[in-house]
This record gives sequence, C-alpha cells and structure tokens, in this order.
Amino acid sequence: MNLFPVYSLYDVEPVKGCGSYIYDAEGTEYLDLYGGHAVISIGHAHPHYVEMISKQVATLGFYSNSVINTLQEKLAKKLGEISGLKDYSLFMVNSGAEANENAIKVASFHTGKSRVLAFKGAFHGRTSGAVEMTDNPKINSPFNETDKVTFVPLGDIEAVERELATGEYCAAIIEGIQGVAGIQMPGDDFLRQLREATTRHGVCLILDEVQSGYGRTGRFFAHQYSGIKPDLISMAKGMGNGFPVGGVLIAPPFEAWGGMLGTTFGGNHLACAAAIAVLDVIKEENLVANAEKVGNYLIEKLKAMPGIKEVRGRGLMIGIEIEGSAPELRKKLVFDKHIFTGGAGQHTVRLLPALGITTEHADKFLKAFEEVL
Ligand code: PLP
Repeated sequence: MNLFPVYSLYDVEPVKGCGSYIYDAEGTEYLDLYGGHAVISIGHAHPHYVEMISKQVATLGFYSNSVINTLQEKLAKKLGEISGLKDYSLFMVNSGAEANENAIKVASFHTGKSRVLAFKGAFHGRTSGAVEMTDNPKINSPFNETDKVTFVPLGDIEAVERELATGEYCAAIIEGIQGVAGIQMPGDDFLRQLREATTRHGVCLILDEVQSGYGRTGRFFAHQYSGIKPDLISMAKGMGNGFPVGGVLIAPPFEAWGGMLGTTFGGNHLACAAAIAVLDVIKEENLVANAEKVGNYLIEKLKAMPGIKEVRGRGLMIGIEIEGSAPELRKKLVFDKHIFTGGAGQHTVRLLPALGITTEHADKFLKAFEEVL
C-alpha cells in the first residue's frame, strides 16, 4: 500500500528528541524552532511528561466517557488556575478542527442560528463537517458548505457591523493571532471592538487559540493581551505536547444537556495524563514568562537585522517576512545549519519553538539566519 502524498517532506527522519533538539539515526542534531506545527510546547521527551504518560499506559490507558474520569476534573482545575479562566467549563476533544466545530455547535444551539463570520486568511481546520474552515481555495473542497460562512477583512469593523446587522449569525470566529496566514495580528483594539459588536448583536465570539494559545505568545491565550472575555475558546496543539488532545472552553452563561456534544476519544485518560503533565511543566518552569522574554529578544534582534521586510508576532509566535523565497531559505536552514523552522506562503518564515528555548538557542538561530539570508 502506498501513502497518499499530500505533504511536501524534508529528506530527514527524526528518531529521537530532547528539549529543543531532534536527532536522525546518524545522530545529527537539529535545533527545532517549529515544534511540529506549534505542537511541542514543553520540549521533546520531557521527563515528567514521559513518566506521566508511561504510568497511565501501564495502569488504565483508556476508557470511555461513560464512567467517572477524575483526571478530566483535575485538568480543568489546573487549566482554570493557570489561564485565569476559572469560571469557564471544559469540553475535551482530539484536535483543533474538532474544537472549532464543537464551539460553533454550542454557539448555534445557543442562538438558534447557523451562519458564521470569519476573517480573510483565517485557518480553523480541514474537516469541514459543519462549516468551511478557511478561505484558501487549495484547501476547500466542493463538499464545504460555503453558504454558511462569510469572510471579511481582518480588522474591518465596519464589514463586521454590516454582516452582524443581518441577524443571521450564531458566531464570529477569530484566531488570537492568525498562524497559517503568516502571523497576522488582529490588533487589541479590533478584538475589543469585535467583542463589543458581537455582544450588542447577540452573537457568540469564538477565539481560536489552537495555535496562539497555551502560553505561546507570552500570555496563556493571545487574546488576553486585549483584556476581552470570549464566549468560547478553542485550543489544541501545545495542549498535549504531541499527544492529540484539544478542548473548548465555554463561558458561564452556556448550559450543557445530556448528548449536546460527544466524542469517542475526547478527554480519554491518556490524553488527560499528557495534558496535565504539560500544565505541570508550564507552571513549574515558568514557560509563559519565558516565551515572552525570549520571544521579545528574538523579535527585537530580528527587527534590527538588515534584509528583513517585516517581523510580526508576539512571544514565541513569530513571522519573518523576507523579499526572497522563504521555502528556499528554510531548506538551507535545515540542510546547511540543521535548524527547523516553519513557513507560510512564499515569503514568510514562521518560528513556533518549544516555550523553554533559551537566548543561546535564539542566538544560534539569529547567526544562522543572517548567514543564509
Ligand atoms: N485552528 C488554527 C488556528 C490552526 O492553526 C489549526 C491547525 O493548524 C487548526 C485550527 C486545526 O487544527 P487541527 O489540525 O488539530 O485540526
């Protein structure tokens, strides 16, 4: 059987990881500043994470959502404390797309409406069961229900007002910082205007923090810089440090009923063990503060580097726009300098490293980047 080749691959096979490094079978060391799509939050093979998952596998790896699972409650408690959102409730799923679909479902139940307002360049997932999740024509298929979602320009509050005034919308969904679009910031003022407009029109505000959440930007969730409180928050990626786990945080006015939402694997014991270990390490090692510190350092140095068109982002969610080809430059970084980065389009390099990277790692990258640029 062949694989269905939808991914473009680097000719490297990592067989081991440790902290911010990965290694191939020959022992070549690579600095990982991409973390497999922003997934590696606490570093590769963190000993506490390995221990927690191993113990859980050896006792009860999995059972369904039909029995008491105190691990879910333990996770919710820790998450409420570290995020400052103790009054929200947690519903656990397996991925970012699933988190967004469930958030939209809650909003749709709550309002009795079905349209969703999203923003140009957004990416909210590929499963498309309930709603088109991106306006990228290479990703949408005819299956998508394009009539249920409208994309307006990011930052255009007048376009938002015009759409919401139709009274057809259940939700507006926005990324804390747009990731796949090349690290585009919505702006704190715009988030505040959007919160005010959605409240006034009785529309739920969903913050997609799948990529920008879990401490990556120097706050637990990126939108917390703006001081707003969304109705629903979706998260995944860094939540499990590689174990597939996602969740929706649901604000107090929403009420659950039996059967309202559901999933086979969501919130299983192993996923909880992984997610609890991640929160333990984030707290113990002050990783949110570190993301802010090392992120600011990187952004400041990159802004001063000649040959760069623009640097965007916050904390350790950084987009570096260059004049030349980003895919070519990233290839050179991998093969000549042994550094992994992410990309977005033809001209943007994305940095989404583990939250524990040091200024020494940052300096190593900055030197290599300047040389290949
Ligand atoms: N939302 C955002 C902001 C994302 O960046 C992604 C994935 O890149 C998703 C949703 C979809 O997440 P998943 O691939 O886990 O379904």
